[in-house]
Amino acid sequence: MLRRYKNKKVDSDWLNTNFPCMMACPAHTNAGRYVGLIAEGRFEEAYRFARDPNPLASICGRVCAHPCETACRRGEIDRPISIRALKRFLTERYGPESKHPVDVNIGRAQNKLPFKVAVVGGGPVGLSAAHDLALMGYLVTIFEAAPVAGGMLYLGIPEYRLPRDVVEAQVREILDSGDITLKLNHAAGRDFTISDLRRQGFDAVVVAVGAHRSRDLSIPGVDLDGVYKGIDFLLNVNLGYKFTIGKKVIVIGGGNVAMDVARSAAREVLRQHAAGVQDLEPSQENVTAVATREMVDISLSALRMGAREVNIVCLERRDEMPAALEEIEEAEAEGIILHPGLGPKRMLGESGKVVGLEMLKTKRVFDENKRFNPAFYENSESQLECDTIIMAIGQAPRLDFLKPEDRVELSPRGLIAVNPQTLMTSAPGIFAGGDCVFGPRLIIDSVADGKRAAIGIDEYLRGQKHPEPIIEVEVFKRHSMPLDFLNINRQPIPMLPLDRRTGMTEVEIGYDEQTAMEEAQRCLHCWVNTVFEGYEEDGTLCILCGGCVDVCPENCLELVSLNRIEFTPETVEHIRKNQERFGVELDEVVADELGIVTGSAMLKDETRCIRCGLCAMRCPVGTISMESYNLVPAEPTGLIS
Ligand code: SF4
Ligand code: SF4
Repeated sequence: MLRRYKNKKVDSDWLNTNFPCMMACPAHTNAGRYVGLIAEGRFEEAYRFARDPNPLASICGRVCAHPCETACRRGEIDRPISIRALKRFLTERYGPESKHPVDVNIGRAQNKLPFKVAVVGGGPVGLSAAHDLALMGYLVTIFEAAPVAGGMLYLGIPEYRLPRDVVEAQVREILDSGDITLKLNHAAGRDFTISDLRRQGFDAVVVAVGAHRSRDLSIPGVDLDGVYKGIDFLLNVNLGYKFTIGKKVIVIGGGNVAMDVARSAAREVLRQHAAGVQDLEPSQENVTAVATREMVDISLSALRMGAREVNIVCLERRDEMPAALEEIEEAEAEGIILHPGLGPKRMLGESGKVVGLEMLKTKRVFDENKRFNPAFYENSESQLECDTIIMAIGQAPRLDFLKPEDRVELSPRGLIAVNPQTLMTSAPGIFAGGDCVFGPRLIIDSVADGKRAAIGIDEYLRGQKHPEPIIEVEVFKRHSMPLDFLNINRQPIPMLPLDRRTGMTEVEIGYDEQTAMEEAQRCLHCWVNTVFEGYEEDGTLCILCGGCVDVCPENCLELVSLNRIEFTPETVEHIRKNQERFGVELDEVVADELGIVTGSAMLKDETRCIRCGLCAMRCPVGTISMESYNLVPAEPTGLIS
């Protein structure tokens, strides 16, 4: 096997197209690599790939919304690789919550730097930023308002999905990664201000306060007894406080209501603050994903707390929420009753207590300009009895701790305005990330924000640009895929039987070794690809035998005469610059005359290639090689910028 290393700028377009799971992960976790190693039974190495870029790997293994899976190329053939569940399989064996934890930070350089950084908020952004800053050698203090660290990981996600010992173990591991002090019950605005932190000598501050302020629906009856806001309900349940739930519960939710309420909340914040310098559009996809998850979490928590009947009411019809369907079906399997295509009109009360919800049938959710503007059928009122209503309509950040002297500007959406590259706010040295900047955010987006803020701070304080990661290239003499890998079906993730899903017992059980390996063998190894140039030292040339075209099981190769190709000016320029390699003389030829040059070209449809390697094996002169690509940190901290 030959090895070659290229030190060049990351070509994100190339990686994005050809290795989508890695590029879809906001933290650029090399998902395919750890999946491939699981298939070979190399679990500890696989864990290192999963954990290295992600300080919250154990938590993501349980509850990540897995954008990698959505992008997985195997999904175009049948169903995507179960990447999230495979990560959980690894963290259960080697994560900080396991019996044999692996310390991935051993050997990472830790210079002590003469700088202090304050992190306001101990949720995913704050923890991730603190972890990376500590590895770089900064002295970090996390100020967390709640009596526990973890933010919404602890306070917003029910225990039956994310056991508390996993959160606690992950937080402990992060605190042990360097010089980090955690101060609980320290709330910005109540116990300190940003200016106080500056006066205390912090050289930089990360604002990562999340979004913990409940939003309201503006319909009659929201003040009745028995009507609760989703976040208040979740905080009470997750902190173990007493909360008496009724017998018949209605949960009002859905992505579009959440999106609309988010906009109204932003307008409200803007009435109190001056408009800021930048607006960062919330991702409709994220808002919907987060809101749906919240709606399902609230409904199932209500069921586990003793409600006899839990109904979900949402504006969208079933076919209008394809992304959320899996989660909703999971809730229905547990007995939740879905009422799609209905909008709340008013809450009905008797003697100050809620007794029902009046609803209208949705005619449409968006108008002709694709703006959220629901319309309802006239006289379509129907009523549903209940004794409890919970509004699962998302949260907004509480930013009243920011004072004019902090000089942190807000965006037109009422969130903190930042430079999207560095995450620095309008106040030098003050950085921000997560929900208080971008609106509802996936956990893994927040992890990536924390990492970005850490790099932004390092570049700000030390005035040095972080080097780009190196692309390591490995040329395989021989590459083959597991036998029959295309015929293996996606392995279902084992779950507790329905009749045992009571209390806060974790519902997902996770893969055993054999099933995990089987699932991992379905991976297409997208980080390996065909390279049509031959080994450099051999200088072998294609003899146009067409063997690769014949052997390709997916018909993605085609050998064509040059005059069948319409060249773009860029291609001509590329060929002109590499005339010697291509064996043509183009000095006198212009782009649209290129067809007169005799010769052949190999065309490849990248989208269909299953990386089987048969073309490379068949090639009699070694012109085709299978080469693998890996991003390697350019720094001793092991952090990928
Ligand atoms: S097939 Fe494997 S490498 Fe390709 S996108 Fe899916 S998990 Fe990643
Ligand atoms: S690796 Fe397999 S699928 Fe891809 S081009 Fe070669 S023969 Fe075809």
